[in-house]
Amino acid sequence: MSSDTKLEVVTAVPERAMVIFAHPDDAEIGSGGVIAKWVASGCEVTYVLCTNGGAGTADRSLTPAELTERRAAEQRAAADFMGVRHVVMLGYPDGGLEDTREFLGDVVRVIRRHRPDTVFVHDPYRMRSFQHRDHRKAGITTTDAVYPFARDHLHFPEHVDQEGLEPHKVRELWYWGADEADVIVDVTGSIDRQIAALVRHESQMPGFNVPAGDTIGDRVKRQAAEHAAGHGFTYGAVFRRLVARR
Ligand SMILES: [Zn+2]
Repeated sequence: MSSDTKLEVVTAVPERAMVIFAHPDDAEIGSGGVIAKWVASGCEVTYVLCTNGGAGTADRSLTPAELTERRAAEQRAAADFMGVRHVVMLGYPDGGLEDTREFLGDVVRVIRRHRPDTVFVHDPYRMRSFQHRDHRKAGITTTDAVYPFARDHLHFPEHVDQEGLEPHKVRELWYWGADEADVIVDVTGSIDRQIAALVRHESQMPGFNVPAGDTIGDRVKRQAAEHAAGHGFTYGAVFRRLVARR
């Protein structure tokens, strides 16, 4: 993101938000600064973890089952620390997320149950750099779930007829990791909390996803400072935002 691009600064905080993400730690990386800030302002947040994270290690002594258990515990600890109210774990295999009817129905159901105003997810349309296949699948399926599937009662009608849920209209969908962001949130006051939550994912620290010679905190702060440049605050988190028509 070049510093001469002026983004819309968002200060409003919704009543309820949901973060939908492929692997343990993606939520803290993608939206942690904003979520920490919004929770402090009274926003009720739900995390939806799509896979079990059972492939996320370079340590060959760990079995996938051991890793899955560890990563679920780490994710719970990070969510608790962040003040996230609800954590839903869908349990799909790491590296095995597909854009299926079942996965779509699962995402529609959590949206109808927890009724977020704003949903965060991976940008599935990123073209300029590599990203994990699971991130693209989570992004696409969430985009479809938000509109129109969760909104319209004749999609997955069994949620309404048999499970006591009502259709729900999400107001805004925020993508992290976008090629071209259009909104920014000042996270100067919450970035330390984001980093403290991120390091709860001990199986991923220090080396697995971080360049040598750097800490995860250094990396997060450097990127956030680049985003904020020219906006009059120190650290920023950027997103591409879709807004539903009234
Ligand atoms: Zn991931």
